[in-house]
Amino acid sequence: MPELPEVEVTRRRIEPWLVGRRLLRVETTGPSYFFLTPPARLRRLLPGRSVRSLERRGKYLLAGLDDGSRLLLHLGMTGQLFTAGAASVRLLSAAARAALAPEEQPRFAPDAHTHLRLFFADEGPPVLFRDVRKFGKVQLLGPGEESERLRRLGTDALALGGEALFEAARGRKLAIKSLLLDQSVVAGTGNIYADEALFLAGVRPRRPARRVTRAECEALAEAMRRVMLRSIETGGSSISDYVAPDGADGGYQDERQVYARAGAPCPGCGTPIRRIVLGQRSAHYCPRCQR
Ligand SMILES: [Zn+2]
Repeated sequence: MPELPEVEVTRRRIEPWLVGRRLLRVETTGPSYFFLTPPARLRRLLPGRSVRSLERRGKYLLAGLDDGSRLLLHLGMTGQLFTAGAASVRLLSAAARAALAPEEQPRFAPDAHTHLRLFFADEGPPVLFRDVRKFGKVQLLGPGEESERLRRLGTDALALGGEALFEAARGRKLAIKSLLLDQSVVAGTGNIYADEALFLAGVRPRRPARRVTRAECEALAEAMRRVMLRSIETGGSSISDYVAPDGADGGYQDERQVYARAGAPCPGCGTPIRRIVLGQRSAHYCPRCQR
């Protein structure tokens, strides 16, 4: 699932293809849970609007339009936001992928999973939103309209302070990792970066939040920022279906120290990394370096 760094990389790379352009035509697939705003309404209201800005809030992207309305986009589990012409094997179905030699990776042609297609008055490349599993979201917020989803978001993971995390952890019995994944506490975190930050801070994922000290909360907030900034710098983690808007691969998956490394030696002490299941999700940690 794309986490804050992947969404931020998407924002930076898609921004030049959205901001300053005027929408001419919008094509969608049929109504589904993917569209929080009925697709017919998007097709009617978006043409003629110009995109003024593209912001990120947690894992949401928010395009500001010239009439004060805003287009909210969430990549969900498998969402891909890119420009036509991007080339990446991850834009193909698993079957199509398996049938291809690496040198035969064709340019992407919109398929049945491409739920939103934005065409612009300048006749340049359209912007496409593809999502195989459809857990992504599209919503048009009218001028001044608030979003319940945005209102519920906690502090952005890049702005998280140790003291605020410590306050949020007071009296909480739940595992510290589950607290970090709670978007109403820390917006933008997900499984990969929570595991990595906990490793750097030396805190076990399962420790009850209320037992994490103030100093450890400082270390955790700092580690979270560090791993996320580093991931943004390397283009994010290219895992499962995530693809940067230009089809480029990220490099962060090569730098992970614990996530998805069960059984491999800890980079700090050599002890095999352990994998446990916590709140129905996997967690990875070093039983020696993390307490
Ligand atoms: Zn270790």
